[in-house]
Amino acid sequence: MASKDDGEVYILVDWVDLVKTREGYEKLLDNVMGKLPQTLGKIGDRVLVVNPIIYHEAHRTIITNFTQIAETINREASHLARFILKESGKAGIVEGERLIIQGKLSNEEFRKLLGLYVKEFVKCPVCGGLDTKIVAEKRFRFLLCEVCGAKSSIRKI
Ligand SMILES: [Zn+2]
Repeated sequence: MASKDDGEVYILVDWVDLVKTREGYEKLLDNVMGKLPQTLGKIGDRVLVVNPIIYHEAHRTIITNFTQIAETINREASHLARFILKESGKAGIVEGERLIIQGKLSNEEFRKLLGLYVKEFVKCPVCGGLDTKIVAEKRFRFLLCEVCGAKSSIRKI
């Protein structure tokens, strides 16, 4: 899982806050990878590893394993896609397993958006747990944490 040689293995735990430098990233990676066999799948102390495969064509950016990424973070591909497109200001569609974006979105930008999405729509702001789900009540959306039970309002996208 961590052996892919292009380095595109991302740990979505405090991603946005911790991964500001290359050094910080490597430190985090070592730290998390060292603990991985014990922590993977443990409720409340879980690590999400996604490995986006991104291709750039002349006028399009294609994430070939997009639905798999959505599955890993346990969200609807369509919801994640809406966020990515809205935040990047680009047009695009989910087609089969892929997200096809019109125009260029760099790997860096895509990873950053993924990190922001996880921070806003997956990670519990109270306990940091990753086992959450989105529930709708009337016009409102909430992030319901299965670890600590917190219910936090989230914006509709
Ligand atoms: Zn929680």
